[in-house]
Amino acid sequence: MAINIEAMRAKLNASKNGRKSSNDTKWRPSQGDQTIRILPTADGDPFKEFHFHYNVGKNPGIMCPKRNHGEDCPICEFASKLWKEGVENDSATLKNEAKKLFSRKRYYSPIVVRGKETEGVKIWSYGKTAYETLLGYVLDPDYGDITDPEVGTDIVLNYDIPGTPGSFPKTTLKPRRRPSILCDEAIGDCSELLESIPDIGGLFDRKTTDDVQALLDDFLSSEKSSESRSTETQKYGSTDSGVDEEFNKFMNNE
Ligand SMILES: [Zn+2]
Repeated sequence: MAINIEAMRAKLNASKNGRKSSNDTKWRPSQGDQTIRILPTADGDPFKEFHFHYNVGKNPGIMCPKRNHGEDCPICEFASKLWKEGVENDSATLKNEAKKLFSRKRYYSPIVVRGKETEGVKIWSYGKTAYETLLGYVLDPDYGDITDPEVGTDIVLNYDIPGTPGSFPKTTLKPRRRPSILCDEAIGDCSELLESIPDIGGLFDRKTTDDVQALLDDFLSSEKSSESRSTETQKYGSTDSGVDEEFNKFMNNE
């Protein structure tokens, strides 16, 4: 595909303005129903998978160099070490800490939101349940290629944000009963729309092994100081369990 001059211009402007163009592109559903259309990509796979590490201090999801790009990942190594340690010491605490650090998959698709087609292509991020549901539609002969511009299928997405703390929003998908064309009057030029689909991998900050090591080191040193603070404040009237001792030992590299 030839280079998209408009997209390049937008990228340059965004870069000059000191902000990431991805901020406008990433899409979050709102509470309730919305209708979306997943767009076909040039490589034939509109359901992209990326791996991130969460719970590393206050960092947003960190792209895993190993699972995404086949490079060494200090967080993966640390988490496996922690897990092994947890198994050897039969420590639920260590195993839980390890689990929090293992990389997690997120899925991404280019979409247009019906009624907001003029806002252009958005990137929708979703979890495993939605991913499997979408693949299920594609493999179901009743729907087939839901991204086909001529005979694809819009999807009604219900997003339910629960009021209770600690619970996650729930996404429910329902394909429209009838197929529809992608570009009706609301979208002028369909080929222009499809050409404006960004490289989804390019929306994330790619981290090198060294970058990830630095983030992990920062995280571990702040953990260590908060661990020692809490040990000090709990010195009186609290009994350190063996598990905590093991954990401290491990964090202190003893
Ligand atoms: Zn990793």
